[in-house]
Amino acid sequence: MTERIGIIGGGIVGIALARALARAGTGDVTVLEKEHRLAAHQTGHNSGVVHAGLYYAEGSLKAQLCVAGRAALRDFCLQKNLPYREVGKLVVAVDESELPALADIERRSRANGVPGLARISGTARLHEIEPHVTGVAAVHSPHTAVVDFAAITEAMGQDVRTAGGTILLGQEVVAMAVEGGTVRVGTAGAEHVFDRVIACAGLQSDVVAGLVGADPSPKILPFRGEYWSLNPERNHLVQGMIYPVPDPRFPFLGVHFTRGVYDDVHVGPNAVPALAREGYGWLSVSVKDTWESVRWPGAGPLARKHWRMGADEIRASLFKSAYYRKARRFIPELTMADLTAKTASGVRAQAWGRDGSLVDDFAVDQVGPVTLLRNAPSPAATSCLAIADYLIDQYLRVRRP
Ligand SMILES: Cc1cc2nc3c(=O)[nH]c(=O)nc-3n(C[C@H](O)[C@H](O)[C@H](O)COP(=O)(O)OP(=O)(O)OC[C@H]3O[C@@H](n4cnc5c(N)ncnc54)[C@H](O)[C@@H]3O)c2cc1C
Repeated sequence: MTERIGIIGGGIVGIALARALARAGTGDVTVLEKEHRLAAHQTGHNSGVVHAGLYYAEGSLKAQLCVAGRAALRDFCLQKNLPYREVGKLVVAVDESELPALADIERRSRANGVPGLARISGTARLHEIEPHVTGVAAVHSPHTAVVDFAAITEAMGQDVRTAGGTILLGQEVVAMAVEGGTVRVGTAGAEHVFDRVIACAGLQSDVVAGLVGADPSPKILPFRGEYWSLNPERNHLVQGMIYPVPDPRFPFLGVHFTRGVYDDVHVGPNAVPALAREGYGWLSVSVKDTWESVRWPGAGPLARKHWRMGADEIRASLFKSAYYRKARRFIPELTMADLTAKTASGVRAQAWGRDGSLVDDFAVDQVGPVTLLRNAPSPAATSCLAIADYLIDQYLRVRRP
């Protein structure tokens, strides 16, 4: 009998997995997505950067799947005629104090096999790449690219349908039970029976894991990232991407400049705690989500460790001048008026443990025939095709053509 495979989540990871399974032809693939469109959450609200593997610890899943995923995603975009622009990235040390952390990034990048990586010293060379930037040294990754992840997800969704798979929108999974060899999955008004289920539920991944009695840890802590737009008349200030040297104690990359795939330049994202899992602004509040985060055992340790950075990020979210100061460190010519509007935001699904630690690597759990992707933060959009292959090889053991 053909295996019935259910996938929860129509973000880029769920759809990449559905595509790989549908094309392998070993089962009936059905995607259940709660929203009325694909890519409605993280996938459609991110920086659009195809990372090359600069930051990740050597040997980590992030490092392996980012490098493999980048190459696969580039091939996919070329094949489908989707925009893929290698605008390149500079990670800039603005002063001497950042040089050791920059050296660490260079070492990791080389260990991860980031293609074309170069160390840049001296203002003249820096200005050949980014004429308006200031700094003492940088690492340049010429193959870091920008794409439209929502368009990619749509194209992958089309492949799912062409290969005989089904995508059901507006189907929120609210119940799940493993019975013998099957999984009963309930959505409002419907029940689906599968032989196996894979949940790629992003911001809701701990909630969905809870439906089958999985360990409540790691929980999801929603972190919002807000973007400002650069006045289009000042877009010449940024050629590609300009990133800070990130704080190694924190999993986010810091406010950066990105020339997007449609030539818009955005600045951001910052990282502030969101008051709802899908809370795209300060006025979007879920008492339930916030209360769950506050009473999680890890809340105290996390707050004690990161309160200073948290306060700084919240200040930059509430006051444009504070946000502007972060951005201007890299481009002294930038004026406050150049940041025209807070145009977009996204909420990161960051997994955290009971001890308050933020889970750094991708993480997967298994409960009988249910596979749960519990942490898929950045660069999971870049890595989606490689994550799909990894899940199939390691957890589903389905043979691919
Ligand atoms: C601000 C920001 C910037 C980022 N920048 C980058 C970047 O430049 N490059 C990069 O590679 N990555 C980036 N990321 C990370 C990247 O966007 C995510 O890692 C990736 O999109 C995860 O994909 P996903 O499919 O796992 O999750 P999602 O895209 O969040 O999809 C999960 C889906 O599951 C659905 N769902 C949830 N619960 C249920 C349920 N009960 N029933 C049915 N459906 C359900 C949701 O509606 C959603 O559509 C960024 C993320 C953010 C937030």
